[in-house]
Amino acid sequence: MLISIDTPREVIEGIGRACNRCGHCCRYGSGVLIDDDLPRIAAFLRLTEEELKSRYLEEIEKFNTTLFRPRLIRNREGKHELPYGRCIFWSEKGGCTIHPVKPLQCRIVNCSIHGHDILKWFDLRFFVNPQDPESIRQYAVYLEFNDPLPGGRIEELIKDRERLERILSYEILARDRLVLK
Ligand code: SF4
Ligand code: SF4
Repeated sequence: MLISIDTPREVIEGIGRACNRCGHCCRYGSGVLIDDDLPRIAAFLRLTEEELKSRYLEEIEKFNTTLFRPRLIRNREGKHELPYGRCIFWSEKGGCTIHPVKPLQCRIVNCSIHGHDILKWFDLRFFVNPQDPESIRQYAVYLEFNDPLPGGRIEELIKDRERLERILSYEILARDRLVLK
């Protein structure tokens, strides 16, 4: 199946069910929350959203967009903390302790042949922000080393060629901040 930026979320969620919950992913990272994941997880744990954030979540920034994910219990190598580690909600005895309400990224990204494209789909839907020039610049750098999904080329995200050139040349710095020459 060919996954594109327009592949509906229900289809992606269907493919995501291929995960057999071995826990490998959960021992080395955690999945990003979007939309109503935060209130759903907070209600499941009987916490306020602020309590959930402060006790169990951390921020992750990608393409100049910041979202939340479950905090990582980071592995160490001697004195050094490594950038990856176990999801705070992972239990070696019981698996994912928030399984019924786990974040969207946990529900869809998996180790099937589609896993890599689903990760790109998630990034395009939730991290790459066409309204944010810096997000577009960072995505442009990413595309120097990675193939886009169909519909995910930079020219397809910003159809106004002149605006795109001004963004990439830093003539437009932020959403509403122009550099006047
Ligand atoms: S929330 Fe659950 S499924 Fe997601 S990374 Fe943590 S333990 Fe794994
Ligand atoms: S996506 Fe694959 S590796 Fe990750 S937990 Fe599921 S089965 Fe294991």
